[in-house]
Amino acid sequence: MKYVSTRGQAPALGFEEVLLTGLARDGGLYIPEQWPTLWPDDIRAMAGLSYQDVAFRVMSPYVCPEISEDDFAGLIEKAYSTFRHKAVVPLAQIDSNEWILELFHGPTLAFKDVALQLLGHLFDHVLSKQGRKITIVGATSGDTGSAAIDCVRDRDCAEIFMLHPKGRVSEVQRRQMTTVMSANVHNIAVEGTFDDCQALVKAMFNDLAFRDEITLSAVNSINWARVMAQIVYYFTSAVALGGPDRKISYSVPTGNFGDIYAGYVASQMGLPIEQLVVATNMNDILARTLTSGDYTVGTVQPTISPSMDIQVSSNFERLLLNLYNGRAGEVRRLMDNLQQSGSFTIDEPELEKAKHIFDALQTSEEDTKATIGELFKSTEMLIDPHTAVGVHAAREKRRDAATPMVTLSTAHPAKFPDAVEAVTGRHPELPPHMADLFERDEKYDVLPNDLGAIQSYIRDTLN
Ligand SMILES: *Cc1c(COP(=O)(O)O)cnc(C)c1O
Repeated sequence: MKYVSTRGQAPALGFEEVLLTGLARDGGLYIPEQWPTLWPDDIRAMAGLSYQDVAFRVMSPYVCPEISEDDFAGLIEKAYSTFRHKAVVPLAQIDSNEWILELFHGPTLAFKDVALQLLGHLFDHVLSKQGRKITIVGATSGDTGSAAIDCVRDRDCAEIFMLHPKGRVSEVQRRQMTTVMSANVHNIAVEGTFDDCQALVKAMFNDLAFRDEITLSAVNSINWARVMAQIVYYFTSAVALGGPDRKISYSVPTGNFGDIYAGYVASQMGLPIEQLVVATNMNDILARTLTSGDYTVGTVQPTISPSMDIQVSSNFERLLLNLYNGRAGEVRRLMDNLQQSGSFTIDEPELEKAKHIFDALQTSEEDTKATIGELFKSTEMLIDPHTAVGVHAAREKRRDAATPMVTLSTAHPAKFPDAVEAVTGRHPELPPHMADLFERDEKYDVLPNDLGAIQSYIRDTLN
C-alpha cells in the first residue's frame, strides 16, 4: 500500500515510513492511496472470530507484505494481551437497541490504548529491523500521553517527550504520565492550552532541520497507524450486532476527529454504517463545521470532558481530502485560509456529501451530567463524562430507532472520578493495577509556551 499526503506535495511512502514519519513534510497527513475493500462475505466471515483475528483481516491490507503476515499477526497478539477483558472491547447494552462499546480495558483506561499498544510493538519491530532509534514528541489533552508513554516505556528504540497543558488535565491523567520513572520518558507541563501544545509539536515537525537532527516521530492521532487500529472495533461491534446484513449507527465522543474518522474509513471499506454522530462538548468547532460548513477556530473552554477540549481538529484534514475526491489542491487552499484567517468554509457539494453519513451535536455540561445520572438510574452503570457526551448525542440525533446505536465509551469512569461521583454519589474505583496511583512519586518539568525553550530542553536531555 502506498500513502499520499493530504496536501499532495510530499513523496508517497510505504507503511513503515508513514509509521515513523507522522506528519508529512509538506505539513499534510498521510492517507492510503485507495481503500481496501471488504466484501459482505468477508465481513460475514468475521462472526465468531477473536478480536485479534478480525484485527488482522481489517489491517493487513494496509501493512502487509511490507511487514510479513506472520510477524504482523504476532504483533497483534502481543498488543492485545495487555487488555483486561478477553473480548478486548466488549459491548454493553444500555437500552433497547442501544449499546456502549467499552474501549477502556487497556493499561491506561482510555480507548487510546487500543491503537497505541499496537503502535509500540510496530515501532519496536520496524526500528530493530532497520537498526534505528527515534525521538517521539507528542501533545496530550490527557489520555494520549499516558497511553503513548505506556506503549514505549523501557524500550530501546525510542525516547519520548510528552507535552501536556499545565493544570488542565485531571490528576489521574497527570499521575498516569508523571509516575512512570523509565529513563526514556520525559514529561513537560507547558504553560498553555492543549492547542498550544499541539501547535508546538506541529512547529517542531515543520522545522525540518530539527526534525532530522533528533529523528522526530509522532504518536498523536495524526499518525496513520493509530487511525488504522481504530477501524477494527467498528467491524467487531457491527458484526456482533448483525452486520453486514443490518446497518449500524455510531456516536463518537470527538476531539481530534481520529476515532470517528476511523468509522468513516470502515464505511469506505464496505461496512454498512447508517450514521456517524460527531459528539462534542462545549468546544464545538466540529459540530459547527458539519452543520454550516464554517470551520472557525475559537478559544478553548475547559469542561468536565477535558480530552475533547480542542479547537483544532487535526484529522479533519483527512476527511477533507476524501470529500474533495483526492484533490489535494483544494485541501491546500482551505488550509492556507485557516493559516491566514483562522477559518475556512467547506463548499456546498462537499458539505452535503459529509451530511449523508455525519450528524453532529454539541452537548452542554448540564446535559453531560444529566446523562451520567440517567444511565446510573436506569442501569446502575457508571459512565465517564466523555462517554456521556456520546450517549447524549446518540439519543438526540438518532435517525432510526430500528438501527442499533452504539456509543463508543472512550474512558473508564475512574479516570474522571470527580464528575462521576458528584452526580451519582458513587466513587468509581481504579482497577487493581493502578490502585496505588496516588501514592507514587511524580517526575516532570514545567516550561513556558515557547518553541525555542522546548527545543533546547529536548536537545539538552538527549545529549
Ligand atoms: C482522545 C479522547 C477523545 C477524542 O478522540 P479523538 O480521536 O481525538 O476524536 C474522546 N474521549 C476520550 C476519553 C479521549 O481520551
